Amino acid sequence: MEHIDWANLGFGYMKTDYNVRCTFKNGEWGELEVHDDEYLQLHMAATCLHYGQEVFEGLKAFRGKDGKVRIFRMDENAKRMQNSCEGILMKQLPSSIFEEAVKKAVKLNERFIPPYGSGATLYIRPFMFGISPQLGVRPASEYLFIVLVAPVGPYFKGGFATTPFVIMRQYDRSAPLGTGKYKVGGNYAASLVAGEHAHKLGYSNIFYLDAKEKKYIDECGAANFFGIKNNTYVTPESTSILPSITNKSLMVLAEDMGLKVERRHVPVEELATFEEVGACGTAAVISPIERIDDYDTGISYTFSKDGKPGPVSDKLYHKLVAIQCGDEPDTHGWVTVLD
Ligand SMILES: *Cc1c(COP(=O)(O)O)cnc(C)c1O
Repeated sequence: MEHIDWANLGFGYMKTDYNVRCTFKNGEWGELEVHDDEYLQLHMAATCLHYGQEVFEGLKAFRGKDGKVRIFRMDENAKRMQNSCEGILMKQLPSSIFEEAVKKAVKLNERFIPPYGSGATLYIRPFMFGISPQLGVRPASEYLFIVLVAPVGPYFKGGFATTPFVIMRQYDRSAPLGTGKYKVGGNYAASLVAGEHAHKLGYSNIFYLDAKEKKYIDECGAANFFGIKNNTYVTPESTSILPSITNKSLMVLAEDMGLKVERRHVPVEELATFEEVGACGTAAVISPIERIDDYDTGISYTFSKDGKPGPVSDKLYHKLVAIQCGDEPDTHGWVTVLD
């Protein structure tokens, strides 16, 4: 195989050897199919193209020091995808098929799993969309589920570093009773303008408040928020947040470390009281926040002056990464070791 410079890979698409597919047709899921073609033949009236019937997931496989390959909490991704499907009236895929397809896609592309210690990982993207042709607005009767994988580089090239975020009340990611709690492509389309505006102003992303009252913290770009103070891990409770599996795992680890965990409304002014804050998600695990500027009021909340994460974020990050790659025992049963 051509040489891959693992340490300098970005987060992007790269062609690998195979993708794994499964089709729902005539009222049932078919057999798993292995394809080497990156392209699809799709009907031009497929519901995914017109009415946004698309859901996706994101998870990772890690190569351990022992050479074994580990996949992190894929049962949670399978469940969440079912929940997303329910949210936009798509057919639910049984978890057993989801997990079989993920394992198969990883095994078949084993040569693309980055070596232990490179900081790079194999990103796994399961996704599903409506394929039956329809012009009327109603759910599709046929669906295609695909798992593609691509090696991705370390999120922080120069080491674990902080970045600034910005609050801008002119944009919402999702509505309180809308689709924010589902992992659907449409939410991402709806956040592109806001994200680009924030990037142009030099921020890593937008820091969203709840859409209704603009009083409480929702999400940091496409990542969950957490704050640390008084030995407590605080994360927002909201109907428009996507339930992050990373956040769910960090809450457990925080408790293991003796921190209190609180899931509740977090008023924006409370930002002034946190010792450390961060964004969390599969891509970066933890992306520590340097500063949050409120674009509308001019208030600025600063958390890190030296570009380094706080001690609790640092500890949580290293603990989770150690479990994911097998350096530390998997006491919570989160890891699937491939045979
Ligand atoms: C995927 C996603 C997250 C992070 O979830 P993880 O399971 O931790 O990767 C957070 N917010 C949004 C909007 C997302 O789409």
